[in-house]
Amino acid sequence: MQKPMGVGAGRKPEWLKIKMTSGASFAATRQLLGRHSLHTVCRSAMCPNLQECWSRGTATFLLLGNVCTRTCRFCAVGKAESPPALDPDEPKKIALAVHSMRLKYAVLTSVTRDDLDDGGAAQWVETLRAIRQLTPSTSIECLIPDFHGNNSALDLLMAEVPEVLNHNIETVPSLYSKVRPQASYTASLKLLLRAKERHGLATKSGLMVGMGETLEEITTSLYDLIRHGCDMVTIGQYLQPSPAHLPVERYITPEVFDQYRDIALTLGFRHVQSAPFVRSSYHAETYAQNSESLP
Ligand code: SF4
Repeated sequence: MQKPMGVGAGRKPEWLKIKMTSGASFAATRQLLGRHSLHTVCRSAMCPNLQECWSRGTATFLLLGNVCTRTCRFCAVGKAESPPALDPDEPKKIALAVHSMRLKYAVLTSVTRDDLDDGGAAQWVETLRAIRQLTPSTSIECLIPDFHGNNSALDLLMAEVPEVLNHNIETVPSLYSKVRPQASYTASLKLLLRAKERHGLATKSGLMVGMGETLEEITTSLYDLIRHGCDMVTIGQYLQPSPAHLPVERYITPEVFDQYRDIALTLGFRHVQSAPFVRSSYHAETYAQNSESLP
């Protein structure tokens, strides 16, 4: 099977050099997040776009604390079997931050809390309601964990009708045991289908490449997503957060990202972002501008 065009995982290629930006709005975002003592996936997952996004006054809020019960090998978020208890003020604090940042489009995500009966679904619901109360005009994208396949927890959250329901499949099925051992490719697809069929939501998913997948495998996964009613997809280069994490197998060229975009658009995705630095919530608000055309 053909390995996608790319360069071996030695020195980072030119196209992965980050242009550092900082300025007043970057500092303002950092201060504000600090003032509300909020976690962000931007920082916890060491996102390469942090500087750019915070300078644009956007951030992705991390709910349910910043310690996860899963051990995905690509992820820099802290891990423990029993993370600290939930912060009861978290929903209000996030709503205040969204209000202070005057966000028209807010992206929420969370760690996975398999230690909680509802996986943290009730705290998610409280957070959406708190944001809606303070800033009713803000669109909300929820990048959710799989809640261990707990359908009543999923329905509880999906019934809040976020503008976009996002759940990443992250990689191709052949790499699951290596990349996200506690997750299930089929369960993730079923979650997206449930959001579409049962709740009529606009759905989105994401893939990281450069971990050993083939071009055919990516194409098949894109097809699987379309077959499960997925409207939008993001495809970005995996970057190793530390030597303790999964090594990068290949730096995929921008040309191949363009190829993936063309394949995804041909398969019928309404919106596609495919480029080395693309992450699940990178420029997520651009989708909102087109979401009217979504079901
Ligand atoms: S479930 Fe999410 S936060 Fe937890 S380790 Fe995996 S990717 Fe990271």
